[in-house]
Amino acid sequence: MQLSSLLQRFAEPETLKMAKLGRELRAKGIDVIDLSLGEPDFDTPDHIKQAAIQAINDNWSHYTPVAGFLDLREAVCTKLKRDNQLDYKPEQIIVSTGAKQSLANAILALVDEGDEVIIPTPYWVTYSELVKIARGKVVEIRTSLEKGFKTTAEEVEAAITPRTKMFLFSSPCNPSGAVYTKEELATLVEVFKKHPNIIIVSDEIYEYINYVGPHESIAQFEEIKDRVVIVNGLSKGFAMTGWRIGYTASTVEIAKAMEKIQGQITSGTCSIAQKAGVVALTADLKPTQEMTAEFTRRKNRVLELISEIPGVKCSNPDGAFYIFPDMSAFYGKSDGETLISDSADLCMYLLNTAHVSSVMGAAFGEPKCVRFSFANSLANIEKGWSRIKEALSKLK
Ligand code: PMP
Repeated sequence: MQLSSLLQRFAEPETLKMAKLGRELRAKGIDVIDLSLGEPDFDTPDHIKQAAIQAINDNWSHYTPVAGFLDLREAVCTKLKRDNQLDYKPEQIIVSTGAKQSLANAILALVDEGDEVIIPTPYWVTYSELVKIARGKVVEIRTSLEKGFKTTAEEVEAAITPRTKMFLFSSPCNPSGAVYTKEELATLVEVFKKHPNIIIVSDEIYEYINYVGPHESIAQFEEIKDRVVIVNGLSKGFAMTGWRIGYTASTVEIAKAMEKIQGQITSGTCSIAQKAGVVALTADLKPTQEMTAEFTRRKNRVLELISEIPGVKCSNPDGAFYIFPDMSAFYGKSDGETLISDSADLCMYLLNTAHVSSVMGAAFGEPKCVRFSFANSLANIEKGWSRIKEALSKLK
């Protein structure tokens, strides 16, 4: 049997692969601590769950409009005004089956074969693979721990060519936790103003998991707002990863293009999740704020624990729930049995000897680093990092 050539063009998500390996070890009775996955370990707040139960009882059981229910698209507009001071109309909003689908919609709607998409490293694993699916060309800008994992106007300017179609980034960033300030965004906007054909895809899925706040969106710059596609969703901020609701805000022209693509792939997302989404977006944000306060406590504890481990260099993330340390001091070392050559080897070593799962930095375009989530209980974080410390101490 001959499978399609499409499959040769992209890789499966490293994040999901590590989680699967962890589950396999757990099935063998091994106590694996999962620091690989990117989702809040919290339950969805009760008022949102009640809205879903109500939607089932009210028989919201039919197909939904491809772009999403009107009341949900109105709720997205209300939220964009309330939290981001942005004016959008419901026809500019496309609700999807998660921010991942929104990114796929945007890239498939805009990127042609050979088009260049500039992505600062480190970036979320799926960005580069979606560009490859669309036959576009990924142009990476390497950032560094020393520069806070953020790119600059000069670097973006230097990466632009006549084939540049898109600039794709997340703030807060998965995996680095970097958050662009309004001033930093303003310097990037000056570059985009000079290049009116470039579309900016701004992934804001970690908007609420922000330790320096308030969230700044690049769409707040009126001069380029028409070229920004905001990608956001309910997964992270409302602990609703399994409910699968994402959305975009863009011009009507781009929205219609994305709707066309979604109409042939998934249609409108789950009716029940959408009805619950209306409540999530318009109700009080207290549960979200409490969750972020808990992430702050865990982040501070992880930073304390890491400061006691020689060779691990990291920054204090401004957002999201990951620590992304430079682990390259361990490359070239061995415990007498296993030689660690790169981030993939180090993750496998930590999984097999410390029974802690993490994700290699190479998957995010930053081979010096490894991503460790702190979306896990404080007890597990303490246990996980004490095991990591011990495993690393054996590398000579
Ligand atoms: N963007 C980023 C930066 C993410 O980390 C994730 C989830 N890990 C997504 C998008 C996808 O989110 P969703 O679950 O809504 O598809």
